[in-house]
Amino acid sequence: MTLSAPITQDVLTLPRKLPEGGKTNLVGLTRDQLRAALIAAGTPEKQVKMRLGQVWQWVYHFGIREFAQMTNLSKDYRALLAENFVIELPEVVTRQISADGTRKYLVRIAGGHEVETVYIPEETRGTLCISSQVGCTLTCSFCHTGTQKLVRNLTAGEIVGQVMLARDDLGEWPVAGAPKEETRMVSNVVLMGMGEPLYNFENVRDAMQVVMDGEGISLSRRRITLSTSGIVPEIARAAEEIGCLLAVSFHATTDAVRDTLVPVNKKWNIKTLLDTLRDYPRLSNSERITFEYVMLKDVNDSDADARRLVKLIAGIPAKINLIPFNEWPGAPYQRSDWERIEAFADIVYKAGYASPIRTPRGEDIMAACGQLKSATERARKSSKEIAAEAGL
Ligand code: SAH
Ligand code: SF4
Repeated sequence: MTLSAPITQDVLTLPRKLPEGGKTNLVGLTRDQLRAALIAAGTPEKQVKMRLGQVWQWVYHFGIREFAQMTNLSKDYRALLAENFVIELPEVVTRQISADGTRKYLVRIAGGHEVETVYIPEETRGTLCISSQVGCTLTCSFCHTGTQKLVRNLTAGEIVGQVMLARDDLGEWPVAGAPKEETRMVSNVVLMGMGEPLYNFENVRDAMQVVMDGEGISLSRRRITLSTSGIVPEIARAAEEIGCLLAVSFHATTDAVRDTLVPVNKKWNIKTLLDTLRDYPRLSNSERITFEYVMLKDVNDSDADARRLVKLIAGIPAKINLIPFNEWPGAPYQRSDWERIEAFADIVYKAGYASPIRTPRGEDIMAACGQLKSATERARKSSKEIAAEAGL
């Protein structure tokens, strides 16, 4: 499909087989899938355990892309792999580096679609913000991604591929024999880019299993945060099948306001969402949930909102992440004043919750939360349409 094709809201996932030459991309296959693929390609059953371990380590521990470089495999076996498989990442179209060191990659995936991936360096760690869909079927009225009409699910390979391409760019693959680096550049992954990860559940789950695997990229499940707008039926499943940390785009303290900001609230309202969230820490064996709260001037930022918020979440181990609204062209909202954000944070803090205010990063390259939307994406809504959907 080209970008000028008719606009569609259908979400499709490309099959794993690449069209070119019918070869299978190894990137994004889970261990079980890779085992099956190796057997199907002719690996003898009794060798498959060893072969799987070797290939896995080359691809995910060392970041190797050529079968010829897999030096502990026989020449014949390397040829067999090359005949059947490729090791391919999505293509980086552009890389922008912000004055604050944030890097934004525009990444092209099969079909010519584009998503964005953002790397945010901090002193002792670095967070990679990855996308799970092209655009998003949900239409949160303050979110730039939600104004993009064209949507498709990313494959597991395209999701893992974003982690791998960032490690490529940062030069982070270990070299055989070299001492282990103490601090990692990509030490944390957040599913907070484009898309609703829980609407692409299987691919996100498979990709995170690859990323968490101890013999590969090896990020602990406590260093991965999945952010959802509140897809209630998938939350318990995420606890059981992924087990990573959870962030929830809460953003409002009454259903009337949340309906306009996060329209999926009309399907699963605040009470239903909170009931489900109460079980998450136990099910996933994690400490606390992050409640994300975008600060929109005169919409959701009053003292009364702050008080309602802490009442609502009482009993849930939580931290509240206040996100100053990041503007984008045609956005129908304004960022709350700084004093207002601090007053809000203070009420939440005094009620016993950590209430960090998220510093916008990479604003000069439009890399901050909610600003992601490929500039080349032509299927965009007008600011009139956006305002109408927001009920303004
Ligand atoms: N689809 C997921 C992941 C989204 S992005 C979700 O909605 O949770 C991560 C966070 O950025 C979400 O909390 C989202 O609501 C917030 N966000 C979106 N647009 C924003 C904007 N313009 N300014 C600040 N935060 C925004
Ligand atoms: Fe989609 Fe999240 Fe943006 Fe809402 S905030 S439109 S769920 S990406």
